[in-house]
Amino acid sequence: MTHRWLLAAAALAMAAPAWAETVVIRAGSVLRDAGGEPGGPATITVVDGKIQSVVDGAPPAPDGATVIDLSGKTLLPGLIDLHVHLSSDPGGDFRNEAVEPDEWGVVVGTRNALATLRAGFTTVREAGSGQYVAFSLRRGTAEGVIPGPRIVAAGPALAIVGGHGDTTGFREDVHAVLDQGYTCTGAVECAEKVRKASRAGADVIKITATGGVLSQQGRGLGAHFTDGEMKSIADTAHSLGLKVMAHAHGARGIEAAAAAGIDTIEHGTFADEAALKVMKARGTWMVPTLMALEGVRARLGKGIYTPTVEVKARQAIETAGRQVTRSKALGVPIAFGTDAGVFEHGRNAGEFGLMVKAGLTNREALATATTNAALALGMEGEIGRIAPGYSADLIAVSGNPLADVRVLEKVDWVMARGRVAP
Ligand SMILES: [Zn+2]
Repeated sequence: MTHRWLLAAAALAMAAPAWAETVVIRAGSVLRDAGGEPGGPATITVVDGKIQSVVDGAPPAPDGATVIDLSGKTLLPGLIDLHVHLSSDPGGDFRNEAVEPDEWGVVVGTRNALATLRAGFTTVREAGSGQYVAFSLRRGTAEGVIPGPRIVAAGPALAIVGGHGDTTGFREDVHAVLDQGYTCTGAVECAEKVRKASRAGADVIKITATGGVLSQQGRGLGAHFTDGEMKSIADTAHSLGLKVMAHAHGARGIEAAAAAGIDTIEHGTFADEAALKVMKARGTWMVPTLMALEGVRARLGKGIYTPTVEVKARQAIETAGRQVTRSKALGVPIAFGTDAGVFEHGRNAGEFGLMVKAGLTNREALATATTNAALALGMEGEIGRIAPGYSADLIAVSGNPLADVRVLEKVDWVMARGRVAP
């Protein structure tokens, strides 16, 4: 017994991550917070994956520290994307995708996690995947087995029978075989499915509150769950300390989700004034995912999507960006999400330019992916800023994102939880 334990301890010591050391980063400029201004040359000291200090100038590094020279660059907090699907790639055939094994999702997700990290995203929220796929990726990046961002994972989405998160477009006997077990009808069954997701390891509950563009369900983009079902989902999730993210396009579905206490509205495509007023009153976050429609736009009319999907896609593209403009006007808080997987992973930062085009300032756009996204996750004491005690999630760019946020489309260097991205 003892012998075996000693061997295990020795193996652990050898596997001790390289970041269990002091790293000193010399930056040309540091933007500590989206609300501040970039300062002059500064030194950031990282110990065991956490920021220990940020000081002006270049004091001597402690003995044995690894020194990283980024003196020509601006350092800022690692970016946060609240809506990605790491195990999906764009434009696949829905029949093939429905029958891929979950193991394949992990392979694809491993590649996409690295692409996402290299794009400067050090935290992502995985917005729906096969059972255990996102949970496996989450463990892989947390333990440093694979390079990638911190993953806040939903697992399979809850949906109504035949809804956007259900498998649709097949014969009923095929649906029965492909069923992931997360559809629900009525408040009681919906509460049960929230608890089941929690038991499986979900960090957040994802629901499809309305129809969706890329599923084969052909009843448009309006509301799906009843008010009672959504209230049950929100209350049950909150009782377990979990937040709820609701995929929602149609205005009445958005309004009902916000009224039920759901925490973030994903997409929010057709949000009208009535829906946004409820969101504002409830403190519900808008996560616009404008890049998703860019991904869809690029594939329309090419025989990639089925006719059912083409109709819904054209409806959604018509109003692209309006939810951002309206949310800002009515004071609804906005956080950054892209729906990566609907477009190619690694292009996530394209969202910034689209947000600015829809009316956000450069500073507001940067805040959506740092301080705001951290708040929406309830992780504002850990990520979204460069400050002592925060996770060492850092990126380096050339130029000043407050002058032009599109400089974030080219990230030169990334550190996530103290590990430098390969
Ligand atoms: Zn999505």
